[in-house]
Amino acid sequence: MTDTAAQTERTLVLVKPDAVERGLTGEILRRVEAKGYRLVAAELRTADDALLAAHYAEHEGKPFYAPLVDFMRSGPVLAVVAEGQRVIEGFRALAGTTDPTGAAPGTIRGDLGRDWGLAVQQNLVHGSDSPESAAREIGLWFPGL
Ligand code: UDP
Repeated sequence: MTDTAAQTERTLVLVKPDAVERGLTGEILRRVEAKGYRLVAAELRTADDALLAAHYAEHEGKPFYAPLVDFMRSGPVLAVVAEGQRVIEGFRALAGTTDPTGAAPGTIRGDLGRDWGLAVQQNLVHGSDSPESAAREIGLWFPGL
C-alpha cells in the first residue's frame, strides 16, 4: 500500500499537553496509524511563546487565546507529521469536533475527551485544517523537513 507521490499530502498533528499528561499518546498515534497514515516525523517538546504565537496567530484577540497559549505551554506536546492521501481531512475526522463534549463517539475527542470546566477546551489534539495551514504549521514545528 503506497500512496501515489503526487497525491500524497501531509498534516501537522499535535498531541496536546492534556493527552500527554493522561498517557494517551500511544492510543492517539495508534488510531492515526490504524487508519493507514504514515508517521514522517515526531518530537516531544515544550513549546515556547514565540512558536505558539505563530501557530495560533489566527486566534489572537479571541477570549480563549490567552488560556489556550497557557495550556499549550503547560507541558510537553508531541508534534507529529503524518502523511497520506487526504490526511488533512482524514485526521480531522479522526479527531472529531472542537468541543469534546459533543464530539462523536468513535473520534479521539469523542471517546477520550470531555469538558473539565476550564476556560479553554482541552481537547487532546490539533490537526491542520487546510493544505496552506499544514505547510505553514509544519514549517514552524519542523523547519527544514
Ligand atoms: N478553543 C477554545 N475555545 C473555543 C474555541 C477554541 O478553547 O471556543 C481552543 C481549542 O483547544 C481548539 C483551539 O482553541 O482546539 C483552536 O481552535 P480551532 O477553532 O482552530 O479548533 P480545532 O481546529 O482545534 O478544532
